[in-house]
Amino acid sequence: MSYTTNKSKELFERAQLSIPGGVNSPVRAFKSVGGTPLFMKNAKGAYMYDADGNQYIDYINSWGPMILGHAYEPVVNAIRNKVADSTSYGAPTELEIEMAELIKSMAPNVDLVRMVSSGTEACMSALRLARGYTGRNKFIKFEGCYHGHADAFLVKAGSGVATFNIQTVPGVTTGVSQDTLTAPYNDIAAVEQLAAQHKGEIAAIIIEPVAGNMGCIPPVPGYMEALRAICDKEGIVLIFDEVMTGFRLAAGGAQERLGINADLITYGKVIGGGMPVGAFGGKKEIMQHIAPLGNVYQAGTLSGNPIAMIAGYTMLKALKDDPSIFTQLEEKTAYLHKGLDEALKMANTPYVINRLGSMISVHFSDKPVTNFKDAASADNALFNKYFHAMLNEGIYLPPSAYETWFISTALSTADIDRTVEVTAKFFKNN
Ligand code: PMP
Repeated sequence: MSYTTNKSKELFERAQLSIPGGVNSPVRAFKSVGGTPLFMKNAKGAYMYDADGNQYIDYINSWGPMILGHAYEPVVNAIRNKVADSTSYGAPTELEIEMAELIKSMAPNVDLVRMVSSGTEACMSALRLARGYTGRNKFIKFEGCYHGHADAFLVKAGSGVATFNIQTVPGVTTGVSQDTLTAPYNDIAAVEQLAAQHKGEIAAIIIEPVAGNMGCIPPVPGYMEALRAICDKEGIVLIFDEVMTGFRLAAGGAQERLGINADLITYGKVIGGGMPVGAFGGKKEIMQHIAPLGNVYQAGTLSGNPIAMIAGYTMLKALKDDPSIFTQLEEKTAYLHKGLDEALKMANTPYVINRLGSMISVHFSDKPVTNFKDAASADNALFNKYFHAMLNEGIYLPPSAYETWFISTALSTADIDRTVEVTAKFFKNN
């Protein structure tokens, strides 16, 4: 393909004069993969178009929410129809009730749900609630999991923190981070040890039920059940961070898909259909401690924003009304999985493909990748080369091995075939 990115280069130069690193979220800068980030102009269905007019098959899908592809018409129309009424009231609306009722009808164990404006806010608020409810300070998170950029979570975090190899985040005080306990993902003995060591001190265990911020790492069989049992035994609140998995792995998210009940659940981008939204919800016994019912304070001027609500509502309703969407996602991703497997088998490179539902990623590793250490010991320099080879052929993968790929229903068999073909071509030449 004749391929120039001059306009993106120009925009990146200009952006850096006014925006830190030229981007509003670090991974977008392509800092670890190298090269110039592409500035996007528009997107439709499975394709994004950059400022130079190049087309890309999109495997990021806005990091998850575009389950039905970009510019999904019902969502676009719903926003268009709603926006003239006003973009914000700072007062309750009926639409917020409809949204909460819809979420409750799809997600298990959600008696009450509070809307916020990002996944970070959702996780931060759920943690505060768990602490307020239990009267305990410490919590356990897992190495390589990312729960947004609130201070307490920036310890051994995944996503950009891992991509940029930031060991300790300046600005996060030791006072805060000493209450963050960490364990390797998929290692139940490590959690048992922490629970014994800090008996009566642990408010919550927060986990990505299928990790997506160190590449895709599903839980090993029995792991989630064991975590649930520890939480029950020790009076610990189990928080499922379903910012990526919610309404993607099944209508009822990872809870439904894995058959595990969480106490609190956090949601993010998916429930905004691409608008800035998050939510946290759970059992009434815990949720009733949130203000104004209780004293655990949490608030937001733009929370329940009508434009975000109508976008999210329309998207979730589409997912609820057509269960075949989840079958389609499964089939498309399984087809991609099989194709990548066949292409990589021909290459002289060890690899691991991890997948659950429509979350998938490739690690260039000669052993199973079940935790962050495994992901970090893979050949991530090779991933970076692979990323650029794909990008040059119009296939947009996440710009880091520490991110999952997301599949949308808009992706066609031809798109997947092409992805596999380009993968095979790259590895034949390497
Ligand atoms: N939790 C998970 C699992 C995430 O993947 C993310 C973002 N990628 C967040 C929380 C934070 O969400 P946001 O970027 O909307 O603050």
